[in-house]
Amino acid sequence: MTSIAFIGLGHMGGPMAVNLTKAGYAVTGFDLMPAALDAAAALGVAVSSTAAEAVDGADIVITMLPAGRHVLQAYGELLAAAKPGTIFIDSSTIAVDDARAAHDLAIAAGHRNLDAPVSGGVVGAEAGTLAFMVGGSDEDFAETLPVFEAMGKRIVHCGGSGLGQAAKICNNMILGATMIAVSEAFVLGEKLGLEHQALYDVAAHASGQCWALTTNCPVPGPVPASPANRDYQPGFAGALMAKDLGLAAQAFESTGVHSEIGMLASAIYTRFAEGDGAGLDFSGIIGDIRTRSETKDAA
Ligand code: NAD
Repeated sequence: MTSIAFIGLGHMGGPMAVNLTKAGYAVTGFDLMPAALDAAAALGVAVSSTAAEAVDGADIVITMLPAGRHVLQAYGELLAAAKPGTIFIDSSTIAVDDARAAHDLAIAAGHRNLDAPVSGGVVGAEAGTLAFMVGGSDEDFAETLPVFEAMGKRIVHCGGSGLGQAAKICNNMILGATMIAVSEAFVLGEKLGLEHQALYDVAAHASGQCWALTTNCPVPGPVPASPANRDYQPGFAGALMAKDLGLAAQAFESTGVHSEIGMLASAIYTRFAEGDGAGLDFSGIIGDIRTRSETKDAA
């Protein structure tokens, strides 16, 4: 039986480890937080009190950690403790450069490595319906596909090392920028006397159609399941959008790509997350646009 060490049992990693256990893998979980260990154990995941113990003898080591620095730091101990040829999968959302650095560390230590960030949020992690964007070799991807399928529904091999992270930040840059555009359009419609539903009925069936409008609509009403209908409870939190756009901004800078919209979207969501928006769904940006528009009215 394939044995898997799962490092990082937080909002995402906890339910992902549970799904692997349910699929019949021999999973050993580890987290620095005792509460995360207890929660995973209560849901049937075997847990260990040290990282080294968790990876001892594992065929696959999955990390699901907050940011690149956590992954690179954790790899120091994990790579040394694992048996030769272990496949390391990092599913955290981190910079492309950090993913490639982690890959190089794993290879230098005699292991194999895939970057495999996800989308689908906590709901997708619990339901086993995550989308995985995978970077790494054809061989490592083919060997680990059943493991991804135990946690997700749509698994895309995006190319070599770092390209899973590249696909993730490119997609989320489109999402952040289109959500700002859709929100500005609704506030402009309000000022011009246009009903939300009328704008929706036109744009949802015209060239303004996009996921930010037709699935995550930032005004209540037209799409009953969107977070706007429940006071912008996430969903996908503003803090996570700010983080992902920051990674896109970092990549724009390191590659020298001329970006105006992506860089501006990053600045707008950083400001949103530093204000009241960190814990709101990212579509709550419409409230920020309205507030700033009122200030201009008064001036
Ligand atoms: P989280 O903060 O809930 O979980 C991270 C866990 O890692 C924590 O429990 C923390 O204690 C643990 N940890 C940190 N350093 C560790 C170490 N060295 N060893 C062991 N455990 C360690 O975060 P999350 O929401 O689960 O997100 C994890 C990753 O997934 C992030 O990179 C995030 O950007 C990405 N992501 C999150 C979502 C979401 O909706 N939450 C969606 C897509 C992607």
